[in-house]
Amino acid sequence: MGKFMTYVYDLEDGQRLMVENAGGDTVVALSSGDEGQQQSQSNAFETGKWLNPPELFRVAGSLLLRIESKNAVEFIRVRANQMQLMRTGPDLGNAEKLKLKKSDESIAMEPMEPMEPMEPMTPMKPMRKMRPMEMRMGGMHMSMGAAEKETEKRFCTQCGKPVRDEDRFCASCGHALSGQEDS
Ligand SMILES: [Zn+2]
Repeated sequence: MGKFMTYVYDLEDGQRLMVENAGGDTVVALSSGDEGQQQSQSNAFETGKWLNPPELFRVAGSLLLRIESKNAVEFIRVRANQMQLMRTGPDLGNAEKLKLKKSDESIAMEPMEPMEPMEPMTPMKPMRKMRPMEMRMGGMHMSMGAAEKETEKRFCTQCGKPVRDEDRFCASCGHALSGQEDS
C-alpha cells in the first residue's frame, strides 16, 4: 500500500496534465492528446513523498499543483508548457479548484539515459615528437616557446594513461617508462 496513483486533468485545449509521485519526485507531464503524434514533456521535481493526493488550482491563467509532502507544501506552476516549482505559496483566495482524476496509467517517463562516458581518446603522441613545422600544419595556433613546456605531456607507452614527467613507472599499469628523451 501507500503507492499513490497518477492523477490526470484534461485541459480544455486537449492537453492532459498528469502528475505522479515517483520515488521522492513529483513528476508532472503535459501531453497533447493527439493520437499518433503525441507530444509530451515531463519534469520531475524533488518534492519528497506525498502525504496527500495533489490538488490542482487555476490561478490567473496558470495551473497550480499543490503538493503536500512530509517536508513541506510546495506548488508547481504550469503555464504554457513551462513548469516551475514555487517555494512560496501563492494566494489561493481566488483560485478555482480543479478536479484531478485518478488514473491507472503511468507517466511514460523515459528515464534519461545516463550519458555514456566518452570513449577514452587515443592518447596523442607526445608533442615533443613533433617538430614545430608539423604543429603549425595541424592548424594549431600555439606559440612554440612557453606553451610547449606547459602543454606537453607524457603518456604511458603501455596503457596510454598520462604520466608525470618524473615518473619512472606508469602509475596505472606499472609499465617501466623510458627515460626522459630530452634530458
Ligand atoms: Zn601504463
